Amino acid sequence: MFEPVIGLEVHAQLKTKTKIFCGCSTKFGEPPNANTCPVCTGMPGVLPVLNKKAVDLAIKTALATNSKIARQSRFDRKNYFYPDLPKGYQISQYAYPIAEHGFLDIENKRIGITRIHMEEDAGKLTHDPARGKSLVDLNRTGIPLVEIVSEPDIRSAKEAGQYLKKLHQILKYTDVCDANMEKGQFRCDANISLRIKGTEKFGIRAEIKNLNSFKNVEKAINYEIERQAYILEEGGEVIQETRLWDPVKNKTNSMRGKENAHDYRYFPDPDLVPLIVDDQWIDEIKKTLPELPDAKQTRFVTDYNIPEYDARVLTSSKKLADFFEETTKDLKDKKQASNWIMTTVLGMLNTKGVDIESSPVSAPSLAELLKLLENSTINIKGAKTIFEEMVETGKSPEEIVKDKNLEQVSDQSELENIVIEIINKNPKEVEAYKNGKTKLFSFFMGQVMRETKGKADPKIITEIIKTKLQDDN
Ligand code: ADP
Ligand code: MG
Ligand code: ZN
Repeated sequence: MFEPVIGLEVHAQLKTKTKIFCGCSTKFGEPPNANTCPVCTGMPGVLPVLNKKAVDLAIKTALATNSKIARQSRFDRKNYFYPDLPKGYQISQYAYPIAEHGFLDIENKRIGITRIHMEEDAGKLTHDPARGKSLVDLNRTGIPLVEIVSEPDIRSAKEAGQYLKKLHQILKYTDVCDANMEKGQFRCDANISLRIKGTEKFGIRAEIKNLNSFKNVEKAINYEIERQAYILEEGGEVIQETRLWDPVKNKTNSMRGKENAHDYRYFPDPDLVPLIVDDQWIDEIKKTLPELPDAKQTRFVTDYNIPEYDARVLTSSKKLADFFEETTKDLKDKKQASNWIMTTVLGMLNTKGVDIESSPVSAPSLAELLKLLENSTINIKGAKTIFEEMVETGKSPEEIVKDKNLEQVSDQSELENIVIEIINKNPKEVEAYKNGKTKLFSFFMGQVMRETKGKADPKIITEIIKTKLQDDN
């Protein structure tokens, strides 16, 4: 029996306005090569200047992943030749990264983080085989990245998915990275090997690149586990190589053979001084750290007395958690607010394909609606109607209640009269109910609701129907 051993390398684009070593914009979607200058296009004689904001964000990443920040780190040159890298080397931390020895907790275990280092991104090539041409866009060249390297602690595709989602969530919470995978702001390479279960020694690994969604990471890992198991079972040997995931054919293909550090001829970049980070700098960044997902989830359970499941859903993003807290601020029934957000609001956003930030119903408006429900001005059915109307028209709940005459009927004597009338009109059902067919209770409820066009306060009519049916008349 084989056991998979998996380690992940994640490249995350740091959310700075300008590039890591020059003043060019990092804005996505600009015309090709619009965001370039002599520094990021690698002209001779230029000098890089480190962007402090990028270091701030790398420190923040380290703090949020329980990593130890190096008081001194260094930038090296990683030399290789490729048309998307005009200098012929990438400036990257190698021997002395900015942080090491971190961890992230996933469902049932802790995954170690080996190191976090800063580096610059390369440009982007677009191949046009029909014209026999390749186009070079250097807008991405020099965008700051952190590479977050995990320990080989992961044992399945599922754990890999959990780790990645947790890391993704934390980078978004801390606002270090927008982490849009389609825009390549959060990219993952997966290293996979197999070993005989129960043994210590790691097997030979393959590194899979081009994984641009959580689903593809899991699929590629599972494919690779099967591919390697087949080779080993046949008595063969896995070769150390870089492979590419083909999301159309759902398989990995060999891209290039084993590469070693010495192939890159790393050496300290003589144009950059060592990066010194002191306690004061770290403390400053610490102050900007938000409450992280695990802590928020625990607090939601205790503060709002909602189930752990609810807390997990509501804290899945910081924006959603803020939305919940703003909604529920002045409400008594926290669980009701949670239910509405998890089902009605998230369902609506899903249908519309928008994020919580652009929700057509704001937190204060939802609070207003739920308040009307709490003080029994409207009933649940009315609330659903009003919510739909809010989504469509953007009107306030109060306005809609007035427009549509949805105010709940809670007048005791008015409702009593209606119940008596219904009892008188349905003697057979009354008889059957009294003879033990208690299921008929909902029939009477239904009749009252029909009579009041769904506006009766269900709590009050339940009481009235119960008493009236017990009366001997
Ligand atoms: P490289 O820079 O060549 O990719 P690293 O030492 O940075 O090498 O390791 C990259 C990743 O590979 C790390 O996440 C590490 O945990 C993982 N890894 C190392 N050895 C193995 C192995 N035998 N099987 C699976 N993963 C491994
Ligand atoms: Mg690697
Ligand atoms: Zn530039």
